[in-house]
Amino acid sequence: MYVLARALKNIGIDNVYGLVGIPITEAAYLIQGQGIRFVGFRHEQQAGMAAATEGYLTGKPGVLMTVSSLGFMNGLTATANATVNCYPMIQISGASDPAMVDMNMGTYEQLDQFNTAKPLVKAAFRCTYAKDIPAAVYRAYRAAVSGRPGGVYIDMTTPALGEIMNKVDADKLFYTPVDIYSPVAPNSRSVERAVEILTSAKRPAILLGKGAAYARLEDKIKTLVEKYQIPYLPMSMAKGIMPDDGPLSALSCRSTIMEKSDVVMVIGARLNWMLSFGKGKWNPDMKFIQLDVAPEEIDVNVPIAAPVVGDMGLSMDAILDALDGKSMATDSDWVSGLQAEAKIKNAKFAKRFEEAKSMMPMHHMTALSAIKPILEANPDVILINEGANTLDDTRDAVNMSLPRHRVDCATWAIMGMGMGSAIGAAVATGKSVVAIEGDSAFGFSGMDFSTICRFNLPVTVVIFNNGGIYNGIGVPMDKTTDPAPTTLDVRARYDKLGDAFGAQTFYVTTPEQLSEALKTGIASKKPTLIDVQLAADSGKESGHIGYLNPAPLQSIT
Ligand code: ADP
Ligand code: MG
Repeated sequence: MYVLARALKNIGIDNVYGLVGIPITEAAYLIQGQGIRFVGFRHEQQAGMAAATEGYLTGKPGVLMTVSSLGFMNGLTATANATVNCYPMIQISGASDPAMVDMNMGTYEQLDQFNTAKPLVKAAFRCTYAKDIPAAVYRAYRAAVSGRPGGVYIDMTTPALGEIMNKVDADKLFYTPVDIYSPVAPNSRSVERAVEILTSAKRPAILLGKGAAYARLEDKIKTLVEKYQIPYLPMSMAKGIMPDDGPLSALSCRSTIMEKSDVVMVIGARLNWMLSFGKGKWNPDMKFIQLDVAPEEIDVNVPIAAPVVGDMGLSMDAILDALDGKSMATDSDWVSGLQAEAKIKNAKFAKRFEEAKSMMPMHHMTALSAIKPILEANPDVILINEGANTLDDTRDAVNMSLPRHRVDCATWAIMGMGMGSAIGAAVATGKSVVAIEGDSAFGFSGMDFSTICRFNLPVTVVIFNNGGIYNGIGVPMDKTTDPAPTTLDVRARYDKLGDAFGAQTFYVTTPEQLSEALKTGIASKKPTLIDVQLAADSGKESGHIGYLNPAPLQSIT
């Protein structure tokens, strides 16, 4: 256990998130003893979300520690989610003696965790001997941050944890790994090809994904956008790499970019379901330039005219160098046309806001009319956001102006990342955090609000209570008196849950009260919980993704 704690310390881990029990309790104490912060959670999935969020925000892998069997599996959901989202993290789980697991002897919490984790992570290691622990930790770190980042698993078996070694031998196990993150440069022909296509574009655009935020490309992207006057469209977690309300922001012209651009430079985003797989709506003659570290991401759903495979920082440097002295062929009315469209769309959106302001009980947009100006005046606050309508409306309403200040349900569009991500963001950055949560979304991680309180973190949790999944007006089928599957409790007082753990709490029914409460929460830098009373009929199914439901039989012809 000492070897594990020292290995984590040596590689520069500052925080470990987890939930202890046999066989990792002692290890957690020893980790604390090394001066590493151990943040103890109430549910492993949330500890994993915290580790993943630390990884995304800092570029250093977050570390999750779990007990064997169920604890391991609860944590693995977050590690799998991290892998899907390209967040670097390491899950270290206590595990039974593999010799007994392999012989199916029915030992305590028996599960072949190593092979269970393997298909869901980038790399997996099993330590049966203490001597292997440092190398496992260092290799896990290297695997988590290198190439496409992701989740890595270490099976820390009871024999390895409990092995007794003399200190002199133990101290010989440590080494300093060389070049633990080694960015790989793109080949120069691919850079030339990308530049040829970009400079011949009549209607160019840049599509920014969270990979670009993770790779800290903001300065390079600013140069590219401003020097060559290319409009940009951010994916949700890429908001703030460039300001959402900047003159070249095409945030409100998404459809036009998809339909009318002739060249789109995709930087750290995937042409997956969130982007209609790059087909359908998209201009069929589109030429995509795609920057990605993962060659297997190229041509996934549409042929890519100019793939630039390599570390995006180095790719951007090479592209900016190759562009130097060249001029663009952009149509003279392309940017001005987008700007005119944005003006109209933004005015429409503002009108929708104005109309929502007076709705009582409040609707999502009513509440957001109070929240928007406060968050925009505090750009340094990290925004955590999950829900259905709560996600869509908050993303659309709140402009971001700094990179890596928005963390949401991301690629899988999951629920159940809120409290963990808020904790990870606060612990990893020391910044204030506001989590805007649907009432259903909050339910998945609500108990870990108590972790926010125990660690006295500067987190304000805002719960949009419309009493249900999508909304609170689901009608049960006639054979039951039970609530409908989508119905929760629109009268629930989530603020009282905060009272139980000593938080500062508010129950608000008007935008004015909400505004006061949110300002107080942020200014206090104390754990704060705000229950926002919405109308039960505010919100619709799946926000913008209802089309993903199975089609009802009668509509299939
Ligand atoms: P979004 O959801 O915002 O579209 P995705 O997570 O789908 O973003 O895409 C992020 C992409 O960024 C992934 O394909 C990943 O391989 C890539 N990526 C992440 N880090 C780097 C990096 N340092 N260099 C190059 N590509 C990276
Ligand atoms: Mg709801």
